[in-house]
Amino acid sequence: METTPVLAVVIAAYNEEEALPGMQTRLAKVFDALPMPARVLYVDDGSRDGTWAALTALAAADPRVSLLRLARNFGKELALTAGLDLVDGDAVIVLDADGQDPPELIPAFIARWQEGYDVVYGTRTARPGESWLKRVTANAFYRVINRLSDIPIPADTGDFRLMSRAALESLRQLRERQRFMKGLFAWVGYRQVSLPYERQARIAGDSKFNYWRLWNLALDGITGFSTVPLRVATYIGLLTAMVAFAYGGWIVMKTELWGDPVQGWPTLMAVVLFLGGVQLVALGIIGEYLGRLYLEAKQRPLYLIRERWPRP
Ligand code: UDP
Ligand code: MG
Repeated sequence: METTPVLAVVIAAYNEEEALPGMQTRLAKVFDALPMPARVLYVDDGSRDGTWAALTALAAADPRVSLLRLARNFGKELALTAGLDLVDGDAVIVLDADGQDPPELIPAFIARWQEGYDVVYGTRTARPGESWLKRVTANAFYRVINRLSDIPIPADTGDFRLMSRAALESLRQLRERQRFMKGLFAWVGYRQVSLPYERQARIAGDSKFNYWRLWNLALDGITGFSTVPLRVATYIGLLTAMVAFAYGGWIVMKTELWGDPVQGWPTLMAVVLFLGGVQLVALGIIGEYLGRLYLEAKQRPLYLIRERWPRP
């Protein structure tokens, strides 16, 4: 007997009380029109506003809604991980709670999946409501990470995507703590295809990602998918050492030929400061990797669940 496939949607929400009701209305409309059963799992990532209350109201009104509440704010990557660990569906779609990833595109994602793709990822062709600086830094980031990483990570691609059960089950095996989801999604491979879409402006509220958070996410992405920075540190060290040897030789020669009247305070300072700087940078790079190694070594759980709805 052939059973109809089920679609599951995972949405991470952090302080999104204003956006959620509108989001669920749009989602329910899309679900109603789908030829297959669909459900949604909202993950409350330790919100401090009325998000949980808003979510329980939505769940009470619609049996297709289930909820997960984390013990504190773990960040979007871990909130998504929690949702993806617990969700059950033949195809799973991840989208943002703020309406920036329009749920109306779900049928287009499903169509590509039914063509046989395991991962369908949304690629942004427009990013309204985002500043010039954010676009420029995002572009620069994708260029850098694709230079450094062996796994191609598609540019202008967020977490908005569909995954088949096979791709999801593979993703679940990746248990690293410093999670850069876009990279992990790409890492699993399978047949992937891009779906271009226009990113909308937020329904309500503000972005939770300031530049400092984005910078840290970028560091997680780079250190998680490449050890090239460590090698670069080695080469910079080698190069500096070579220059230093040459310069040292020149000084010895000079002293032999012309004697050594005490001089050269500025050169001395320049060399000391330069070498000190190079060493600190190299140490910092090692520190970034070491710190992550330390976090992994502690083997803490990735996230903690405070509550589930419906109760298991
Ligand atoms: N989010 C989350 N935990 C966080 C920060 C954000 O679950 O610590 C959710 C947020 O509620 C939204 C999604 O991640 O559904 C994307 O966040 P946001 O819209 O702030 O990011 P942007 O779209 O500006 O990149
Ligand atoms: Mg957003």
